[in-house]
Amino acid sequence: MVLLQPEKAFPDKEKNFSEWYSLILERAELVDIRYNVKGFVVYRPNLMRLINLIRDELERGLTETGHQPVLFPLVIPMSYLRKEEEHITGFEAEVFKIRGEEGEEDLALRPTSETAFYPMYSLWIHSYRDLPLKLFQTVTVYRKETKATRPLIRGREFLWIEAHDAFSSKDDALKQVSEDIRITKNALEKFGLAFIVVEREEWDKFPGAEKTFAFDCIMPEGKVLQIATTHYLGTKFSIPFEIIFLDKDGSKKYVHQTCFGPGLSRMAAAVISTHGDEYGLVLPFDVAPIQVVIVPIPKEGFENRIVEKCFEVGERLKRLNLRVKVDDSEDRPGSKFYKWELYGVPVRVEVGVKELEENKLTLFRRDLRKRWTIEDSFLEQEIMYVKDDILSFLRSRAYERLESALVRVNCREEGIEASKNGKIILMNFCGQKECSEKIKEDTGGYEVRGRRVDVEEKVWGPCAWCGRTAEKVVVVAKSF
Ligand SMILES: [Zn+2]
Repeated sequence: MVLLQPEKAFPDKEKNFSEWYSLILERAELVDIRYNVKGFVVYRPNLMRLINLIRDELERGLTETGHQPVLFPLVIPMSYLRKEEEHITGFEAEVFKIRGEEGEEDLALRPTSETAFYPMYSLWIHSYRDLPLKLFQTVTVYRKETKATRPLIRGREFLWIEAHDAFSSKDDALKQVSEDIRITKNALEKFGLAFIVVEREEWDKFPGAEKTFAFDCIMPEGKVLQIATTHYLGTKFSIPFEIIFLDKDGSKKYVHQTCFGPGLSRMAAAVISTHGDEYGLVLPFDVAPIQVVIVPIPKEGFENRIVEKCFEVGERLKRLNLRVKVDDSEDRPGSKFYKWELYGVPVRVEVGVKELEENKLTLFRRDLRKRWTIEDSFLEQEIMYVKDDILSFLRSRAYERLESALVRVNCREEGIEASKNGKIILMNFCGQKECSEKIKEDTGGYEVRGRRVDVEEKVWGPCAWCGRTAEKVVVVAKSF
């Protein structure tokens, strides 16, 4: 059997991420950028099937914790959007407006849906018995980005899930924030992603939130990408929107609220960028639209028997609830190998005359690009083992990159040096906005991402940048 090793089709993503990313989106048929409207792209089937699997995982987490699905209108009356002052100040410049018809007010395309949900919450919530209220929707949102746009990472339209919850107490609301963090962690682990959880600084919170927690994912070239946030809103929205309930003690109170936004487009970008290599996409089993592809290696006189065997193997794998494809198209085996590797199918099974005669199967793992042969009867147990092994390999590789990117910095000079080497900085920080602006200026764009909360970090010295007393350990990084 001839081993066809396709040429490396892509540049090294750690050295030239932009080129790698654009090429992979195009060649793996994920996105088509030829729609010709800034910040708007077409999501193709290979991408939507990946996104739907990401969505399913997060929606499952929400459903299991008592959330129910809803669908709110895309348009929000400007008077609703203006009800909470910090909120509109934060979003005004990014809002796409539709001019109202005569006698009607202007409408906004939702940049996020707090101000769509909460007028209804004030109609639906009356008593403590109506609480908690936990609803979510999976939709596109619209923001007029002025920065350069990049498909899935920074667009004017993107897909996300937004959950909006209301509680009778601050305690319950804060517990929800922890639950949102747990839901996100569980999902990201299945996607094999490496991430840091931070509490955003005062000036960097979601407009209208009391507290904002964010998941920053490590991307090639040492940059980070925010892929999910959860916010404690306190009563900042329930007061202007008059979301009031009658408590057990007979008193009227404002609800405490949370909102949670896992970004589906950005999670897809993170999966693509974290695992992909010079041959194309690499997908962990859980988010692979096709998990195993079976390719016949034809030989004259044996064609039918080989294809029959392929379908038999396919049926056996379907019984394990796997997403399987038998590629019996007319392409040459080499072209099939190339295509399914480019699309990131985790495992390929090859069946030729040799396999048929010896009652064996040849397997190929996309992540390691390794090929080996097994006894036919071991197929099921081998695939189930490989499924887990691929995820643990991808996850540990992602975490190795994160760990090797993280560096503790004690002073400004060390910080500047670290930024030149594309590192992610951990440092003691005074908590002052001016200091964070100085960091950004000195490093050419590094931002204080916030206090690290997924790992307990103790302050070990003064603020690395200004020498004042430090109040926390923060993550400082360049972001997309
Ligand atoms: Zn400082």
